Amino acid sequence: MNLKAKLSALALGMMLLAPQAMSQDAYGFFRGEAFPPPRPTPAAWLLELHKADELLASNIAVATFLPNTRLAWHNHPGGQILIVTDGVGYYQEKGRTKQILRVGDVVRCAPGVEHWHGAAVESGFTYVAISPTQKGATVWAQPVTDDEYRSAASDRRTAPRARKAGSAMRVELAKADDVFPFNVVSATFAPGKRLDWHKDAGGQILIFTAGSGYYQERGQPKQLLRRGDVVKSSPGVERWHGAAAEIGASHIAITPVNAARTQWLDEVTDNEYGVAAVVPQKKAE
Ligand code: MN
Repeated sequence: MNLKAKLSALALGMMLLAPQAMSQDAYGFFRGEAFPPPRPTPAAWLLELHKADELLASNIAVATFLPNTRLAWHNHPGGQILIVTDGVGYYQEKGRTKQILRVGDVVRCAPGVEHWHGAAVESGFTYVAISPTQKGATVWAQPVTDDEYRSAASDRRTAPRARKAGSAMRVELAKADDVFPFNVVSATFAPGKRLDWHKDAGGQILIFTAGSGYYQERGQPKQLLRRGDVVKSSPGVERWHGAAAEIGASHIAITPVNAARTQWLDEVTDNEYGVAAVVPQKKAE
């Protein structure tokens, strides 16, 4: 079984073990609000995780689609990165073959390129979208016709490679460039595994996508974080993160590029790791 299959199996196992969470959220995240107009049918939802600010000049949102639901043709003046976190969907650029997207696939939509995305006919579909905002909002065009939606598809097979990096399995999802000035990686920790204390000159945003993990800033209480939780680390703040003691954790990390690389500091001691965790207060859903 390759890593992607293992991650899918892990996520599925967690859903099966957590029926109470499943009743809230069959797709791994809270669904959020109905997708804004032009509202797709049968149904899609959008959950805002981050609003563009000085830490990251991009919006981050989770989009969740019922089967057979697609967006209209559109383009993003600042481009968009899609990271598929659940289900199966489609992505098509104008004049190109429709592609099938699966969990772990990544799409870089170049600025201004006309395209659409949505769920497959027989599967729900969830992705995390990172959208630079400085060049303006999404520009909507005509609906995707039934013929376009049902056109022949090819596999995308992004299949980013995983490698062992310290205490985590690390998958590079997107490398910073002029259009997307941030690195995106997915990290998966076995139970009890954690990073050393570290800091980033440009700060970082973490999105927990599976399991349960810990996050602590120097001098602050250790926090328990679960799937769907988002953590924003200010530039230069010393912190560590990793899995909870008895369950693994996966998170996506978005790190704005900065001349300085991550600075690694002291090890997290067993005493630091072992203190009771607090559960952060969540905004009302
Ligand atoms: Mn798009």
